[in-house]
Amino acid sequence: MSLDLDERQRAMLAEMDIRVWWPRASAPVVTPEPIAAKQEPVRAGGQKASENRATPASQPGSAGIAQMDWDALQAAVAGCRACALCEHRQRTVFGVGPAAAAPGQAPQVDWMVVGEAPGENEDRQGEPFVGQAGKLLDNMLRAIGLERHVNVFIANVIKCRPPGNRNPEPGEVAQCAPYLHRQIELLAPKIILAMGRFAVNALLQDSVPEVHKLPLGKLRGQVHHYRGVPVVITYHPAYLLRNLPDKAKAWADLCLARETLGRAG
Ligand code: SF4
Repeated sequence: MSLDLDERQRAMLAEMDIRVWWPRASAPVVTPEPIAAKQEPVRAGGQKASENRATPASQPGSAGIAQMDWDALQAAVAGCRACALCEHRQRTVFGVGPAAAAPGQAPQVDWMVVGEAPGENEDRQGEPFVGQAGKLLDNMLRAIGLERHVNVFIANVIKCRPPGNRNPEPGEVAQCAPYLHRQIELLAPKIILAMGRFAVNALLQDSVPEVHKLPLGKLRGQVHHYRGVPVVITYHPAYLLRNLPDKAKAWADLCLARETLGRAG
């Protein structure tokens, strides 16, 4: 694949400490598909815990979730009390992307990013990937022509913050994953970037035997599939902040995802 980068993208990569080894572009610069109009972002699930507690909602069950439209799904997550994580959250974190074209419909995006679970900042703001890790993610995405709120949907496997940022329990993942699966079904992205262990497990558990035992490093560098949608695995931005040399690998993963989407037309 030829990857032509303009000065802005090169500056972003420099901020990620990634040296670009492609020659400077002489051909026209690759730009993302034009967005007709910047719309108000969807910042779903921003309901406060105190509001949730007033509602004796639990969870409609996988079969019910599988029938929901986008708005019903957002409302279900906002009121969900199906696992113990609801007790500690300030806000649920449904995900963020461009606005949908019509009520009940999912936003139209080619790209989806799936992370793990909200942290402290995400819990407070009701939005995934904020703070330093979010800034890094935004820079990574901008380097391939993607912009939060505009042309990518960003979500987590788990919609409520595990206290103390502990890892989610298997039962909590199992309880929450149907929301993610329905999000993917409704969004119908053309490519998914899976960031981190829990995203990988949730997306590939049916297609890669013993996926939870395989190191991420072994799963990277190839295109997997989740129900027919190509999945490219990369490191979580929070991990990259602590392991700077792996940023170059994350950049290679982004290039693989972009190349895969390009091949799909
Ligand atoms: S983590 Fe998921 S399953 Fe648990 S309460 Fe929050 S939305 Fe419901």
